[in-house]
Amino acid sequence: MSKVPFPTTKFLRVKCSGCNNEQIVFDSSKIVVKCNVCGSDLAEPKGGKAKILGEILEVLS
Ligand SMILES: [Zn+2]
Repeated sequence: MSKVPFPTTKFLRVKCSGCNNEQIVFDSSKIVVKCNVCGSDLAEPKGGKAKILGEILEVLS
């Protein structure tokens, strides 16, 4: 039985729900990530992983 390896950190392409700006967000960010355009929160730190608040368009490894 092989287990899924410990997930590595990834970058996510996230669409801001406020202004539809697309921005790359680090998925283990320890800080609140804000949209560069309108300042909405795109991600907030949550137990080592970031909670993504916008729409995830793509996962970049
Ligand atoms: Zn925005």
